[in-house]
Amino acid sequence: MSIDNRDFDTLKVHAGYKAEQHNNAVSVPIYQTAAFALGDSYRADRLFSFSEDAPIYTRLSNPTVDVLEKRVAALHGAAGAIGLASGMAAVSYALLNAAGKGGRILTTARLYGGTVDSFSHVYDDAGVGIDIVGNPDDLGEFEKLLKPGTRAIFIESITNPFATIPDLEKIAEIAHSHGIPLIVDNTTATPYLLNPFRHGADVVVYSATKALSGHGNVIAGLVVESGKFDWGNGNFPHFEKPLWFLRDSNDAQRNILQVFPSLPFTGRIRAIHLNYLGAALSPFDAYLVLLGVETLSERVKKQVANTEAVKTYLEGSERVSWVRYPTANGSPYKALADRYLPKGAGSILSFGFAGTEEQKREFLASVKIFGYQANIGDARSLIINPAQTTHVELTPEQRELTGLSIDAIRLSLGLESADDLIADLRQAFERVFPKRA
Ligand SMILES: *Cc1c(COP(=O)(O)O)cnc(C)c1O
Repeated sequence: MSIDNRDFDTLKVHAGYKAEQHNNAVSVPIYQTAAFALGDSYRADRLFSFSEDAPIYTRLSNPTVDVLEKRVAALHGAAGAIGLASGMAAVSYALLNAAGKGGRILTTARLYGGTVDSFSHVYDDAGVGIDIVGNPDDLGEFEKLLKPGTRAIFIESITNPFATIPDLEKIAEIAHSHGIPLIVDNTTATPYLLNPFRHGADVVVYSATKALSGHGNVIAGLVVESGKFDWGNGNFPHFEKPLWFLRDSNDAQRNILQVFPSLPFTGRIRAIHLNYLGAALSPFDAYLVLLGVETLSERVKKQVANTEAVKTYLEGSERVSWVRYPTANGSPYKALADRYLPKGAGSILSFGFAGTEEQKREFLASVKIFGYQANIGDARSLIINPAQTTHVELTPEQRELTGLSIDAIRLSLGLESADDLIADLRQAFERVFPKRA
């Protein structure tokens, strides 16, 4: 039985690595080198014409990064993956790669703040148009905003900070009926809670900085491809254009689909975006992500349990005006969570602080276990006021679209004891709202 057929929990510790190919090292070695010896000049010819696959230079590929790419691909049953220096590199490279020159991306405002902000600063210069669906719960709006140049639909599977859930399969159907892919940012869910490829996604991106690595000690990103989407369907001329640097040994120009037939999407990102824009993942950082992935299921399972416990406490608090989490009372996303996220809806939860702005600031200053930081998915529990920090770049119009109000407090639940976390929130509420004697 090949390792690729094993269960998720076995793959997360073993996939993509054979110790006998690495001096029998049990832990994945860190190949801390910029370049790799080419051997003789005939081997160099084969390496540079893509007829032999081996590392040349760490900006393009590295054996430590390669293990991470293969392991994450295996966790999804996907054809391949590419490791990058950050989640933002993963999002930007994936969207630019799908769009090509003059293309458009159809998306929503329910995205990571940095991604929304990048729409006004990067894509215009690159000649890529961005169309934003106002209400992503209304699938008709996706249909309405599709244009002849639209080359991908891009969504997040669990959004931040409100943990809304899109109907993945229906949105994938809309994309496929127009011959374009669905790209899903699955950072918050992680592959343990959700495999978007099982629900029609064609490309999945991660900020591995978050729960995938899980220890708040590395910036990293990944793009994963199913290998099933037909990039040669006529909608992606940039995948079919013959390129001189992809020529074969007889100097015949080839296109991306010919050189990377099983991995055209990540192959093109590697050949073009990683090669020329250069956000390469360092071998040491790839090692840290690998180490985190080994305990992914165990960590995320506990984080979901902690989130459920804190949710129940907050729902009973008179100082909380609302709680947003897919399993919270009255959540409109309960049915979608049951369908797509049966193991849990992640560890991001938001609530409305029922007090003044000053009291909210005092509350944030009064927690002792929760860390006040702009991050999520850490082993440590975190707290933040997103409208004034992580999502501060949003224009009032974008904030309106996401429904992000000033009273919102976002939690990212970590691995501490649920009782201690609840006691921490309780003592902070009591400090701000002292009980009258
Ligand atoms: C953090 C985050 C990103 C950006 O990732 P970095 O690793 O910080 O560059 C992208 N998408 C989502 C959903 C995120 O949470």
